[in-house]
Amino acid sequence: MFDLQTAIQQAKHVTFMTGAGVSTASGIPDYRSKGGLYADQVDPEYALSIDNLQAHHEDFHKFVVNNMYFPAAKPNVIHEKMATITNQKGTIVTQNVDGLDRKAGAEHVVEFHGNLYRIYCQTCHKHFDYETYLKSDVHAADGGILRPDIVLYGEPINPDTVSAAIEAISTADLLIVVGTSFVVYPFAGLIGYAQPEATIVAVNREKIALPEGAHMVQGDAVNVFAKLVV
Ligand SMILES: [Zn+2]
Repeated sequence: MFDLQTAIQQAKHVTFMTGAGVSTASGIPDYRSKGGLYADQVDPEYALSIDNLQAHHEDFHKFVVNNMYFPAAKPNVIHEKMATITNQKGTIVTQNVDGLDRKAGAEHVVEFHGNLYRIYCQTCHKHFDYETYLKSDVHAADGGILRPDIVLYGEPINPDTVSAAIEAISTADLLIVVGTSFVVYPFAGLIGYAQPEATIVAVNREKIALPEGAHMVQGDAVNVFAKLVV
């Protein structure tokens, strides 16, 4: 029978592929989930699009400030155990933009969709701290619009980020998918870069579509990771 603890101990390179479900236990809502907090408000895919940022930067700013920033959020047991494991022998490839893996001390992290707490001016490309951005999205010196360094709907993923993710996945002998329903491409397609002999396992509350031969650990990831001895 498949045992996650044993699989992690025996693996040479563990790559975690993570999504919003990892951070919900830290109080960060999954804006994409059905019946989520914003289900009957604006369409989050438009609110978080490059079109919205370019056409209505005030609306974009209001949406991200009101719905996305949780600076007081702390890493939970999933982030902590993943950090310990990957600092020894692995990588975290995350769709999350909350920076909690790095806050947990993880050193080998690929932030596939960027990081909300990195802010830059679209005009002069100077960097700002997020506290400045929470107050205003205009760079007074040049009138440029500030934005978080995250991948918006309608924007491509940075090619260096894609390469780093492929490297992490193709070199892993154990791939652990956590807290993601795996519906967002191109992230979901990354699993195709796994070695044919790699062990693939998903930890998720609901069953998700996985390649043949993959293992499913069905349950709350917080409970699953709390039991891991790393
Ligand atoms: Zn500027």
